Amino acid sequence: MNISNAKQIRDKEMENKIETNISETTSTDEHSAAHTKFEVPDPIVEVNDLNLYYGSKQALKNIYMDIPKNKATAFIGPSGCGKSTLLRCFNRLNDLVDSAKVDGEILIDGDDIYDSSIDITQLRKRVGMVFQKSNPFPKSIYENVAYGARIAGENRKSVLDEVVEKSLKSAALWDEVSDRLDESALGMSGGQMQRLCIARAIAVEPDVLLMDEPCSALDPIATGKIEDLITQLKESYTIVIVTHNMQQASRVSDFTAFMYLGEIIEYDETETIFLNPSNKQTEDYVSGKFG
Ligand code: ADP
Repeated sequence: MNISNAKQIRDKEMENKIETNISETTSTDEHSAAHTKFEVPDPIVEVNDLNLYYGSKQALKNIYMDIPKNKATAFIGPSGCGKSTLLRCFNRLNDLVDSAKVDGEILIDGDDIYDSSIDITQLRKRVGMVFQKSNPFPKSIYENVAYGARIAGENRKSVLDEVVEKSLKSAALWDEVSDRLDESALGMSGGQMQRLCIARAIAVEPDVLLMDEPCSALDPIATGKIEDLITQLKESYTIVIVTHNMQQASRVSDFTAFMYLGEIIEYDETETIFLNPSNKQTEDYVSGKFG
């Protein structure tokens, strides 16, 4: 059985479990305890009583969490537990899913991002996204990185040159591509394409960078480069990363949230989650007993 089939089967099992769980009217004590907010230093994102439904199926339940500025926060948990859904709430990508309905509150730098006055294009500039499968545009390396600035109306070559160089340097890609900026981005290696997508995301100077399993399609060397990059990037950006790789969460993140069946079961400093979790489910998950 390949990994993709296994993931689909796990997804299905998890879906069934979510449906079963929704019909339960009371939470367990362990789950209720998760509703008390874990305090983080200097929060940039604040989530209060967030619930998300895909049609009648509840995928996120009573999420309360703050995400600290200029740190890396990881979401871990078995496939289908709601990690990507929660991540996608932070730049309202779930708005693109017709059946998705959100209630609750998410503040970013104090702004309620689900308020009707919010400009979604602006929000997605402030909160950038890097996906599991890199998705460069079929354009040159240069144009991929200059894209956001061009859309914002910037056409001065000197400014664009500067944006492209600075972003590629920040994404640890400049040295590998500075002599072939006009070549198609589609000719790059998988790891380079992923760093290009990071360069494109940071070119518009977001506050928060969301990463949804950014290394799952990469080999160990390319993965190591992205992990090193995350460590550098968090000096300037707040990183929120979904990963199914627990070693990766423990290597790159400062804080970790363990999710299960649409709830945050435990959220704490990464070291605590991995070495001294308070919750039995967290302990079982991080020690590989399920998931
Ligand atoms: P994870 O990232 O932890 O694997 P997801 O957030 O992708 O979990 O999914 C959480 C639940 O929501 C799963 O049951 C999944 O099948 C369901 N789901 C995710 N995306 C959609 C969608 N676009 N439409 C309907 N259900 C979805």
